[in-house]
Amino acid sequence: MTATHPLALAPVTAPPRTADAFAAQFLHNLNFDRGVALSASSANDRYLALAHTVRDHLMAQWLEDLRHQKQTQAKSVCYLSAEYLLGRQLDNNLLAGGLAEVAAEALSACGVDLDELRAHEVEPGLGNGGLGRLAACFIDSLATLGAPSIGYGIRYEYGIFRQTFVDGQQVEQPDAWLSLGSPWEVARPEEAQTIAFGGHTETFDEQGVSRTRWIPAWTVQAVPYNLMVPGFQNGRVNTLRLWSAKATNAFDLRIFNSGDYEEAVRAQTFAENISKVLYPEDSTPQGKELRLQQQYFFVAASIHDFLGTMLSEDYDLSNLPARVIFQLNDTHPVIAVPELMRVLVDEKGMPWDAAWAITRQCFAYTCHTLLPEALEVWPVELLGRLLPRHLEIIYRINEEFLAEVRERYGDDEMRIRNMSIIVEHPVRSVRMAYLATVAGAKVNGVAELHSQLLRDKVLTDFDDFYPEKFTNVTNGVTPRRFLRLANPELSDLITEAIGDGWVTDLARLRELEPLAEDAGFRAAFGEVKAANKRRLNDVLRERDGLEVGDGHMLDVMVKRLHEYKRQMLKVLHIVSTYEGVVSGRIAASDVQPRTAIFGAKAAPGYAMAKRIIHLINAVGSVVNADPRLEGRLKVVFPPNYNVTLAERVIPAADLSEQISLAGKEASGTGNMKFALNGALTIGTDDGANVEIRELVGDENFFLFGMSEPEAEALTVSGYRPSEYYQADAGLRAAVDLIASGAFSGGDRSVFEPVVSNLLYEDRFMVLADYAPYIAAQERVDAVYADHDAWTRSAILNVARTGFFSSDRSIRDYIDRIWHTPPLD
Ligand SMILES: *Cc1c(COP(=O)(O)O)cnc(C)c1O
Repeated sequence: MTATHPLALAPVTAPPRTADAFAAQFLHNLNFDRGVALSASSANDRYLALAHTVRDHLMAQWLEDLRHQKQTQAKSVCYLSAEYLLGRQLDNNLLAGGLAEVAAEALSACGVDLDELRAHEVEPGLGNGGLGRLAACFIDSLATLGAPSIGYGIRYEYGIFRQTFVDGQQVEQPDAWLSLGSPWEVARPEEAQTIAFGGHTETFDEQGVSRTRWIPAWTVQAVPYNLMVPGFQNGRVNTLRLWSAKATNAFDLRIFNSGDYEEAVRAQTFAENISKVLYPEDSTPQGKELRLQQQYFFVAASIHDFLGTMLSEDYDLSNLPARVIFQLNDTHPVIAVPELMRVLVDEKGMPWDAAWAITRQCFAYTCHTLLPEALEVWPVELLGRLLPRHLEIIYRINEEFLAEVRERYGDDEMRIRNMSIIVEHPVRSVRMAYLATVAGAKVNGVAELHSQLLRDKVLTDFDDFYPEKFTNVTNGVTPRRFLRLANPELSDLITEAIGDGWVTDLARLRELEPLAEDAGFRAAFGEVKAANKRRLNDVLRERDGLEVGDGHMLDVMVKRLHEYKRQMLKVLHIVSTYEGVVSGRIAASDVQPRTAIFGAKAAPGYAMAKRIIHLINAVGSVVNADPRLEGRLKVVFPPNYNVTLAERVIPAADLSEQISLAGKEASGTGNMKFALNGALTIGTDDGANVEIRELVGDENFFLFGMSEPEAEALTVSGYRPSEYYQADAGLRAAVDLIASGAFSGGDRSVFEPVVSNLLYEDRFMVLADYAPYIAAQERVDAVYADHDAWTRSAILNVARTGFFSSDRSIRDYIDRIWHTPPLD
């Protein structure tokens, strides 16, 4: 290709950053890309044209960064995550690109309503909850810090389901987020990878060396889609590369030629199912074959992509650890370990020991749980059928690892069984967390307490064997999305006080501390909170026809519905207040006006979680309609909690509910978002709550409940929940009211399973923490009654939680795990 035109020879340049140029580009995209005149355009046309215009502005830098990362060959992070819960892109990209004002001016000159277009975007919900949102915060921080990196994941055609309520019960609807067009991605079909499955292995002799090859049974194409990840006003644009499954041509043709059209279409559907839908289980994986297909599909494509396109052709793979670190976001991508071994040994002909020495330096593993049921295991039968060569590799890794263990401890069969990557019961399976721990250069938990419990309880023997391996990186959230964009009024107030450096250096919020004593600042801060509540009310009224109480404290619990998170504890508090008033024990006028806001999706197969959702809605209908409460207690449960809703609810919250049983929540990130937006936390000593409380101070945090050792001791001594029920009249009255059918039209059977679970099982010790929780809520009421004292604490929560920026988390990863300094 020889170019002679001067434009073809010039570097790609961004359009000028003026409102005129922006408007011209917008109209150009509307007319020539959408094929519609402004006067005839739909909101969707205008949204897509606007998104393309923002993309056009970021494109030159994106191309430059792609080129630069390849050219410098600096060590990169490949973040491997099966989930990215991105949230809406338009506002974030306008902010990061520094285009917000230019776009607003340009659109207004075109007579186009920017707010309408903002509201038009369907958020890409390619994740379940905290884990996927963490990945999204991390790629934002990587771009903002300018670290050489690429995110890899799956382009699910359907993301997390859309939740609706029918008669108070959850009904799931497919999330067809791509249906109106997806302007933020660029398909790169010519860079597709072929991914193989099934079949068998063969050994053969090559010049006296015994080698293995995998003869797969079938293949699919992995087609990459690139998404822009712009850093915050730093001119950097990183890449998130998501893989979509497509039937391979050869596969199709063979069947087509046989004349079986239906079979050809069926085969295509089979292949394309791999990236069809995100599994909606959060914390309780289901062990489905398609899920393992998804996992291997995306990590194999990612590894081949990195080795094949990011490395120079003659790259000496023995240097790989100096070029890349693959970060495993939980166990979902761990099958990447045997895949890299397979590539190095079978495809590149490297000796096993050399390949293993490289592999162990190229991976690091983040564990996200302490719940035993959340630790992924794959039956050997299934893994061997789908990935026979990988199973052989896992067996050999395990054999050599157990030989090392034997060498250290002798024939301690108990220890060897406990540490084996292969577990025998109930069916012979591969423990993916163990494989990741053996292979990873580092293993981290996601909050101080979690990392400690990981060493003490979950991976104890591994900690003993590899004491240097374990570390902690406390999670964080991006201040761009969760403060600057979600809470523009508080952002302006902060910037007025201390300048705008906090957006990329969140520790500077400390400078706000003295202002907690400034009455004028407190008044302004209180005004911002009130304005955010009004804004939330507008959103809820428009979205769901819901309304929060006028002048109410907003008491918020938004997160996935899971028994360990203990939404039931919050329900019991509401029911107990309600019961107190209707029984005449409490005067309605003594109730501190509150609206409890819930947001929560339940995994579709998680029956108890769905019953709890039903109960919350049922309690809400009764409580909200009962005049005896004099409007002082409300329950509001907008459906379909997602990032967009989080961005509205969190800035309006007064009280943040973080009430998991101690030792069960790995970190939480919702807790950080609330504190940063000036909500006070009522919480247990769990996850990152511990660090939040240490930073904000005991006097600005409502701690309650058992500590992890106390909960453990109670388990050991034999926990009998009914004893708490018997001993506490208030608790008894609340539980009895639910059991009586008061919230189910007199039908006692509807919530019977919830009640009997509480009384006879209560795995997460709701009843044991009930009394301390109620007492803490009374302290909340007392402090809230003193508006000035509350606001002072709220300001100190903002000022002291800058630590929870994901920029700090990423710096920790870079310094202690990745060793990938930012490029300049
Ligand atoms: C932050 C966030 C979460 C995680 O919340 P936790 O309270 O930490 O469980 C889940 N879902 C969405 C939409 C979020 O924004």
